[in-house]
Amino acid sequence: MSQANVPATCALGLDAHMISAWRDGATTPALAERIAAHFAGCRACQAHMAAFESVAEALRRQRLPGRPRPALWREIQARRAGTAPAWWRSLRILHAPLWAGASAGAMAATLLVALLLVHRGIPCRLTGTLTS
Ligand SMILES: [Zn+2]
Repeated sequence: MSQANVPATCALGLDAHMISAWRDGATTPALAERIAAHFAGCRACQAHMAAFESVAEALRRQRLPGRPRPALWREIQARRAGTAPAWWRSLRILHAPLWAGASAGAMAATLLVALLLVHRGIPCRLTGTLTS
């Protein structure tokens, strides 16, 4: 049956929005029962439903981006490694968690020793008496 043969109106006055709500289970149970009893004999309601089913089927056919390919992250890392300067790539061993922690600790210890040496080597002039 073509769209031209579909009656423009429904005997119950149901429109596309009401058929959509019925299809989605968003009507009251009493209205759902009434529409269900009416639907088989109403070409206008069937036409609305067919239009909704067509859209739903088109949406189901859409390919949504799913999880990335397992190799994608390796490819990104390889590209990043390829664009990094050679001196940075040579330091790759320092990126290991153990080395990173050890180097942070060594830097903190060096900074502490440097502060102690500087503090002892420079006389503190702020302890003198201020004169007005
Ligand atoms: Zn109808």
